[in-house]
Amino acid sequence: MFYNRDIKFIKGVGEKTAGLFNKLGVFNVDTLFSFYPKSYKDLSVITKICDVLPNETYCVKAKISSEIVCKRTKNNLTVYNFTVFDKTGALNVTLFNTKYLASSLKTNEEYIFYGKAESGFNGGFLKLNSPEILNTNQAVIHPVYHLTKGLSNKTVEKAVKNALELLKTNNFPDYMPNDILQKYKLYSLKEAIINIHFPKNPEALKQSRRRLIFDELYLLKLGQNLLKNKFTATVSQRIEKSFFTEFKNSLPFKLTSSQQKAIKECLTDLHSNRAMNRLLEGDVGSGKTAVAAALIYSVCKNGQKSVFMAPTSILASQHFANLKALIPSVRTALLTGSLTKKQKDKIKEDYKNNKIDLLIGTHALIANKSESKNKSNGNTITKSKAETIAKAEANTDTKTRAKAKTKAENETESQNFLKGTALCITDEQHRFGVAQRAVLSQSSGSANCLYMSATPIPRTLSMAIYGELDISVLNEMPLGRKPVKSFYVNESYRARVYNFIKKELNKGFQGYIVCPLVEDNESDLISVKEYYKELTQNAFKEYSIGLLHGKMKPKEKEKVMEDFLNKKYNLLLSTTIIEVGIDVKNATVMLINNAERFGLSTLHQLRGRIGRNSFESTFIMISDKDTKRLEIIAKETSGFKIAEADLALRGPGSFLGEKQHGLPELKLANLLTNSNVLKAAAAEAEITFNKDKTFKNNPLLLKKVEELFFNTDLNI
Ligand code: ADP
Ligand code: MG
Repeated sequence: MFYNRDIKFIKGVGEKTAGLFNKLGVFNVDTLFSFYPKSYKDLSVITKICDVLPNETYCVKAKISSEIVCKRTKNNLTVYNFTVFDKTGALNVTLFNTKYLASSLKTNEEYIFYGKAESGFNGGFLKLNSPEILNTNQAVIHPVYHLTKGLSNKTVEKAVKNALELLKTNNFPDYMPNDILQKYKLYSLKEAIINIHFPKNPEALKQSRRRLIFDELYLLKLGQNLLKNKFTATVSQRIEKSFFTEFKNSLPFKLTSSQQKAIKECLTDLHSNRAMNRLLEGDVGSGKTAVAAALIYSVCKNGQKSVFMAPTSILASQHFANLKALIPSVRTALLTGSLTKKQKDKIKEDYKNNKIDLLIGTHALIANKSESKNKSNGNTITKSKAETIAKAEANTDTKTRAKAKTKAENETESQNFLKGTALCITDEQHRFGVAQRAVLSQSSGSANCLYMSATPIPRTLSMAIYGELDISVLNEMPLGRKPVKSFYVNESYRARVYNFIKKELNKGFQGYIVCPLVEDNESDLISVKEYYKELTQNAFKEYSIGLLHGKMKPKEKEKVMEDFLNKKYNLLLSTTIIEVGIDVKNATVMLINNAERFGLSTLHQLRGRIGRNSFESTFIMISDKDTKRLEIIAKETSGFKIAEADLALRGPGSFLGEKQHGLPELKLANLLTNSNVLKAAAAEAEITFNKDKTFKNNPLLLKKVEELFFNTDLNI
């Protein structure tokens, strides 16, 4: 099919341009079609010349009134000057080195000029330097694309135009069922794609957007239907008895009522014939691990096995320690990337042979590939096997394709040890996209799945995002927790803040200092290292300080964390790696540098690292910017309320843009503002799905759903 062809297939796109397109995620004709403009230049809004002001961009419609005067400058530029006028005034226009354009212009003809106005000499006419010039009958709405260095808007425009030419001569099937198109009077796919790039008028643009937004939400909902259906498959391992009382009585604390409620909801799932597919949402410190422990205990007592996955090796190690303490009778093993292959194989073998009841590990459990590639960064989630296969599929070189495909298939092969798993728990689920969720549940057979998240999502969004999941919420904290005192201050307070931290350290407590770090940004890393030097040599020279960042090897990270836990360090200087889960009860103070660079949810989660004992804890954010957001953190203690506020402040685009929620990328649709379309699309998706659950009558539609869900092989 022409739309699956490599981008180089398009006229005018050579090796180099193709490489630049690849950078922007455009690999083939189809992805170019869906490389929607980020905005438009609307040249239909014409400004009268008398209303033109300097330093603003305008579109004027005017006649050329003078000869086009050509001059050559000292540095060999060819400059063309002429005057244009409409009924209200005149402007001077200057063009540089555009012989072809200049010679095509005719005196007394009317054109559209689009550009930024500048003041003229000595109070003369205002001037337009190198404006875009169009014939008055030319398309008036122009696309503006996301670009990368070396790739101009013109080049993208041209490539898209040439690609759209292919639509005219080739068959381009529409995956949307006809009755839906008619019912909602939607544009055809072909029409929508042409007009989203080069709208013939504002109405056409509106209609194209309407069609494509409908598509995104419809495909999202179809995907969720598909996942849900897959998850509701009958489980092979039903859990007969709950052993809940026994578990409860063995705990050193009393479960909160929301913990009890959540455990009961989960146990009901485990007891049923239907696979559990549940999200457990609860603030940092709300005690999600105890809920997980109750389920693992029950599963183990029923003679079944569980796996528990964490996003980082540090977190996996802590869960390992905590769960061993909470449920000592469960035979537990830890599988992380830092073990040797032999050690790993032994653990996998033991798990397979039922010598282990609970296997805890990082995502290395699901994607072997990650071990070599992402050793340095425990936070990175690897691409799913299906994605690898899809990439291989797109590769035109058959040899590479075959090789990559075999490799990807081998990866799943090696996950077979997970077969027979009754319960699969994923901590901090937002780090795992829908794709990973699908692959995980696939490799463990039809296991019961619980996803735990400390990132509360406002209710208005959670249904749309987690449409395929049931949700349990922990909305209260265990008794005796003191709220963490929270402040934000500007740079001028730094010395005072340091003194406050020292006071805490002198009492024998520990503290965190957090720096923002873009993990791939070398200069950020250098600045963290320099700051570390500054702290150890000056501000905190009497104290010992550990340094933790994402570029360190897993073993190094674990060593630093362990040393911090064992009080070898008074202070830990860290990037967001401590964001998820690390539990050091003796820490009572946390300082956040450049707090404006963190998302509100992240700040809230960071704060959750302290206040884990009965002493007063203090959270201090230093920032010279964006204090309105920081005020929310300082005042609010509930993660759900913070999420609501964050959403209200930033809008769903940026709120969801952090890719924290495992939601497939929506290019045009907005889950909040398009809620009516969402409703309609959801209803239609359900009807479509129930009519043909295997998509045998519309394989193209299935392909589209899979593409939206990161090319995940949904394996129906
Ligand atoms: P999170 O929800 O952030 O994962 P954890 O499960 O790590 O929270 O629990 C935080 C701490 O609270 C742990 O030390 C845990 O032992 C403790 N805890 C959990 N539930 C209770 C409870 N009901 N009463 C007292 N302490 C609890
Ligand atoms: Mg936790």
